[in-house]
Amino acid sequence: MKKTDIVVVGAGIAGLTAAIYLKRANADFVILEGSFPGGLLNKLKTIENYPGFPSITGNELLIKLMNHVKSLGIEITYGNAQSILKEGDGFDVKTDVDSYECKSVIVATGVNQSNDSIKGQDKFAGLGVSYCATCDGNFFKGLDVAVIGNNDIALEESLYLSGLVNKLYLVNPEDKLNGNQKLIDSLKKANNVEILNGKKVSEIKGDDFGVTSIVVDEKEIPVSGVFPYVGKKSTTQILNNLKPEMHGIFVNVDSKQQTNIEGLYAAGDIVDKKLRQLVTAANDGAIAATNAAQFVKERK
Ligand SMILES: Cc1cc2nc3c(=O)[nH]c(=O)nc-3n(C[C@H](O)[C@H](O)[C@H](O)COP(=O)(O)OP(=O)(O)OC[C@H]3O[C@@H](n4cnc5c(N)ncnc54)[C@H](O)[C@@H]3O)c2cc1C
Repeated sequence: MKKTDIVVVGAGIAGLTAAIYLKRANADFVILEGSFPGGLLNKLKTIENYPGFPSITGNELLIKLMNHVKSLGIEITYGNAQSILKEGDGFDVKTDVDSYECKSVIVATGVNQSNDSIKGQDKFAGLGVSYCATCDGNFFKGLDVAVIGNNDIALEESLYLSGLVNKLYLVNPEDKLNGNQKLIDSLKKANNVEILNGKKVSEIKGDDFGVTSIVVDEKEIPVSGVFPYVGKKSTTQILNNLKPEMHGIFVNVDSKQQTNIEGLYAAGDIVDKKLRQLVTAANDGAIAATNAAQFVKERK
């Protein structure tokens, strides 16, 4: 068992930003990563909305971020966190390699993307396939789009997009929509939304310029944009013992990024929020770190 004040779980942009702030606050901490540091940054093609960089690849931004982290002398510890338990006033974080006794934890484990993505989903990512209606919705003004999914995010994104696009197909793989009833009612009232219950998208088709259609039960529907919200899996199994308040697969936090459990913070895509982007993940990491450092200081 190792001892430290704060454990950051996950070294995506949220966890790495938390580490930068913790280091600069002179805090005693460990940052754990179970796979590749950088998280989703390893997979992003072109990023055009991160302040200071009109256009940068995920890999280029990751190299800059890792250089920043290294320049501060921060070391990333390999460890896939398996569980977080309450231990007296603090926590016990168990990984596949070690366990850490600490006073505070920042969970920044992101959201697992689907392993079984729809044919064409990866090929057309950024070319009509988007995961953020508020960021990319304007590109589809007056066009036809499809949202795939049956959770509150899919419903919220559909409602937002319905105010911009010509026609929206909400393709729901289940027999009925089971999210927030208010959202369902609003979508049913929108005259440009067609809900396709019990249908699966088997392929997203396109050409050199981007998405042109989706294939639903062997029928091709022309669309210019697709917003898939199926297949995202939770990374919150490590919280199964603590059971913080959640909204679906996302963790509820207050303005300090603290969960309803004292000393337990969350940052990045794992948090229940409207906008899941690099800039908001970095923001969460900075806020969580500042408050976790303060939390620990007050208990010394
Ligand atoms: C296709 C796509 C395109 C996107 N394009 C843009 C864009 O153009 N601009 C933009 O701003 N945002 C974009 N985003 C969103 C952005 O990538 C995310 O909001 C951001 O990367 C989230 O960062 P994070 O640190 O919360 O999570 P992640 O980047 O997912 O990092 C989480 C880290 O935690 C690690 N981890 C998970 N579980 C454990 C565990 N148990 N123990 C130890 N480590 C663990 C993971 O290995 C990972 O490294 C895009 C997302 C997608 C999917």
